[in-house]
Amino acid sequence: MEASAQIGVTGLAVMGRNLARNFARNGYTVAVHNRSAGRTEALIEEFGHEGAFVPAESPQEFVAALERPRRLLIMVKAGSATDQVIDEFAPLLEPGDMIIDGGNAHFADTRRRERALRERGLHFVGTGVSGGEEGALHGPSIMPGGSAESYAVLGPMLERISAHVDGEPCCTHIGTDGSGHFVKMVHNGIEYADMQLIAEAYHLLREVGGHSPAEIAETFRRWNRGRLDSYLIEITAEVLAHTDADTGRPFVDIVQDAAGQKGTGRWTVQTALDLGSPVTAIAQATFARVASSRSELRAAYRPLPGGTRQELSPDEAESFTRDVEQALYASKIIAYDQGWTMIRDASAEYGWSIDLGAVARIWRGGCIIRAAFLDRIRAAHAADPGLVSLLAEERFAREITDAQASWRAVVAGAARHGIPAPAFSAALASYDTLRGAHLPAALIQGQRDYFGAHTYHRTDREGSYHTRWAEPA
Ligand code: NAP
Repeated sequence: MEASAQIGVTGLAVMGRNLARNFARNGYTVAVHNRSAGRTEALIEEFGHEGAFVPAESPQEFVAALERPRRLLIMVKAGSATDQVIDEFAPLLEPGDMIIDGGNAHFADTRRRERALRERGLHFVGTGVSGGEEGALHGPSIMPGGSAESYAVLGPMLERISAHVDGEPCCTHIGTDGSGHFVKMVHNGIEYADMQLIAEAYHLLREVGGHSPAEIAETFRRWNRGRLDSYLIEITAEVLAHTDADTGRPFVDIVQDAAGQKGTGRWTVQTALDLGSPVTAIAQATFARVASSRSELRAAYRPLPGGTRQELSPDEAESFTRDVEQALYASKIIAYDQGWTMIRDASAEYGWSIDLGAVARIWRGGCIIRAAFLDRIRAAHAADPGLVSLLAEERFAREITDAQASWRAVVAGAARHGIPAPAFSAALASYDTLRGAHLPAALIQGQRDYFGAHTYHRTDREGSYHTRWAEPA
């Protein structure tokens, strides 16, 4: 077989098939392969007219179809299947060729795979791909890791098939080894937080504000024309406005209130603990999904008393809606700041030198958290490449300052009414923790020294100290 394909895609389920079509639609010749040949045949039959595809039945045929250096994109089920596919294809490749993993791999696996393949002279590019199957077809946000050398060869192709905003591709070289998958993981963690914050805003508008789902849909549509303009707010309005065809009831009222997850939020929280990154809003969002699914615990708690419900007058309800918008925006700034802090921490830990502004830039389109807001984050990092926190930027600081009274009123009101607002509360607590001149951590140091002689540092002198505590009576 003549080696004519610039890229090969193996794994032709929804993601692989659509990425292959995206490459073909952009003028590339694409070799396509799947473990079971049926998917390859279906792709050629349905979409073969869209561009130049080279179907391959065997791994050998597939590899032979690729131009050198070979670019082989794996889009199979994440986990051991990825290792199996690497083991199958790596022996067929030659030094300088590259294997790209676009699945949702854990970044530690990507680091391991990159190291092993580098020793064999192969490039391994673990890349985050966001935007689901529609994004894969029309332009995803792409987060490739791996060597700079591999990006020089592969980057232009990925940039071409990615989403574009203001003429700029939503794809950049993130850093070496597992950095791309790491950044994709944090993207998903931020997505969890953003979704939870929006869900809490809805819950409060409904339970405290007394609004119907259709009215709240209108509120979200209005917010989507302002600073909260984002894909998630847009689709939230659509979901809230939707009525169930069978019953005529609001769609949100016929769906079981138990949230699912595929695990990237959990990975973000687990990794944040290892890095010492305080991503509390992301953690609360992840735990909120977990708690919603614990039906036996919810049944045990259900008979217990809640807060005091108080009906709002129309004026009060209107003012409450404005407060919720402020609280949502302020909490969102904190959640995103937590995500960026985590990326900064990992970049230092693993020596990735990640451009934090570029991460914001490539998330402006193609991915689930795409939003006007990300351009603000990009601009903040462009103005100050050493920016430690979004709150160190003047405009974000002013916005958080302006939101204070509303933010606190909403969190306090939620507690009084007995409406859970874990992500709003965590964001506000995070803000007050990091802002506080004195924290009770001093007392914790005293407790640790008392029971474990763990020592403490003094505020007035250098060195470590231990107090000889009296035995309790
Ligand atoms: P998927 O359901 O995760 O995986 C199905 C594909 O994996 C099929 O092509 C299947 O081949 C292949 N496969 C499974 N085990 C295999 C093995 N041991 N050896 C060879 N091939 C094997 O497919 P997907 O939803 O398209 O996702 C692909 C990857 O993209 C995953 O890693 C996923 O996490 C990631 N991702 C998904 C989304 C999304 O929105 N779905 C978004 C971003 C990233 P057969 O047809 O032969 O069974």
